[in-house]
Order: sequence, then C-alpha cells, then structure tokens
Amino acid sequence: MTNTYRSIQSLRTRLKTLRTRKKSIGFVPTMGALHEGHLSLLRRSRKENDITVLSIFVNPTQFGPSEDFRRYPRQEKNDERLAINENVDIIFYPTEKTLYPSGYLTYINIDTMTRHLCGASRPEHFRGVSTIVGKLLNIVQPDKMYLGQKDGQQAAIIRKMVHDLNIPVNVRICPTVREPDGLAMSSRNAYLTSQQRSEAPVLNRALKAAREEVRSGIKRAAIIEKLIRKNVNANSSADIQYVTCVDANTMQPVKTLTGRVMIGIAAHFGSTRLIDNITFTA
Ligand code: AMP
Repeated sequence: MTNTYRSIQSLRTRLKTLRTRKKSIGFVPTMGALHEGHLSLLRRSRKENDITVLSIFVNPTQFGPSEDFRRYPRQEKNDERLAINENVDIIFYPTEKTLYPSGYLTYINIDTMTRHLCGASRPEHFRGVSTIVGKLLNIVQPDKMYLGQKDGQQAAIIRKMVHDLNIPVNVRICPTVREPDGLAMSSRNAYLTSQQRSEAPVLNRALKAAREEVRSGIKRAAIIEKLIRKNVNANSSADIQYVTCVDANTMQPVKTLTGRVMIGIAAHFGSTRLIDNITFTA
C-alpha cells in the first residue's frame, strides 16, 4: 500500500508510528520523472529496509537562473504509478512553499569539493542540493539513503556532508543504470532530438576508452582529458563543458591518475546538458 504525504507534519506522524514499531526506513530522494535509474534505488531500498520512502521535489535552489527549472519534466501521475508498481510505502510530495516558506534563509555549503566538475559552471548548484538533502534527512530521518553514482560528485558531496554534520544515516551509492547503448539514464534524455539521442552514448564510450588507456599506462590527466575530448568531438556535435580527472573521494583534480579516481564529463547536446562519469582504480 503506497501512501502520499504532502505535509511535513503528516509524514512525521506516520514515520514516528513506524519507528516505534521498529521498522527500518530506507529513503530515495528524487526530482521525479522516474526512470529505471531511480527504480534501481527503490528496489535496493526495498530489499534492505522494512519501509521505503520516496521523495519527489524539483528543488528550485539547485537550478541556476538560466537553467531548466521551469521546463524540468513533472509527471506526478506516472511517477505515482511507477512507485506503486515498485511497492514504495511512502511518497513524500512536498510543495515549494512547504520546504522554502517565505523568509527562508538557511543553506548548507560544502567547501572545496563543490569547486570543480559541475561546480565550476554551476556555482550555486551544490549548495541547493546539500540544503535540500539535509532538510529531507531531518524530515525523514531514515536509516539508509540511496543515491546514484550517475551524479558522482553529488554523491561524494552528500556522503561528506553526512559525515561532517554527524547525520545518523547510512549512505548507499548505487551503480549508474544505462540504456542498452551505454547512455546513462536521465530525466533530461527526454529533451534530446533523435540525432542527439543517437550521438549521446559517445560520452560513455569515450570514458570507457579512457579507462583502457589509463590501464595501458597513460597516467597523465591532461593527456587522458585530451583523448576524451578528441573522441567526443570526432563522433558527435556535442559541446563539451568539462572533462576532469579527480580523486574519487575529495573531488579534487589530479595531475596523475593513481588510486581511486573519477573522470567526469559534461556536454551540451543542443540546449540539453548531459553528465556522465567513470570511477576506477588506476
Ligand atoms: P534526480 O531525480 O535526477 O535528482 O536523481 C535522483 C537520484 O537518482 C540521484 O541519487 C541520482 O544520482 C539517481 N539517478 C539518476 N539517474 C540515475 C541512473 N541512471 N542510474 C542510477 N541512479 C540514478
């Protein structure tokens, strides 16, 4: 039985009852327009907890002024159907006013980790993400929270926030779910024209090729980044925003690929910005 809650108070009352009954709570925060990537997180939560809470909220504070907040897909009915299908216990569907009432002033800012990769071109983005996730964690108080590696920098930042702020939740980062041709599933894929859609898997292919190059002995980040750019430019009309090799924990750029590393990429296909990453031990 899936129940939808829109107010913090009614959700808290329900969760309190469940907690006194010693039910473990798994939490999956999303912006909706659910796809297989989101569903994989819900399934993992179902497997590892008694109760699964899904939140759906297109968070305005993580979008820049010229970004796609207004056109971001909102598909409440379809999302609800998918959630019911996955036996989600609770959907939290708050309004903007509920989470950011007028006069709202408090934000969570995480240093250094937010400067590179997506943070370089989206200066306010991670402040919005960490603030909303911090708020949702305080509201839901889950035992475990499930995030996707698809947003690798986001996952690392949230893990750090949970650690630094002593938030009592276990953060589980789950693998990126991909289309058969390798394109990482994303709610934004729906914006792509058929030509762009056919080109978009180049991001994943270029990252995988780069991993092989690192394994064959090319360890200099500048060279690897150049090879990725060359590959993407030769095989698509994408406009690359960044290709950056970072330490997988700190999200700081590295000069040489050694140990646990992540290579992140963002590129525009027309007006649609896609991101992807690959994490491995070099
Ligand atoms: P979003 O709705 O885009 O904010 O994503 C909500 C959660 O789903 C985040 O933790 C994302 O990293 C995760 N997610 C999005 N796409 C995928 C995917 N293709 N595979 C795995 N997780 C994903």
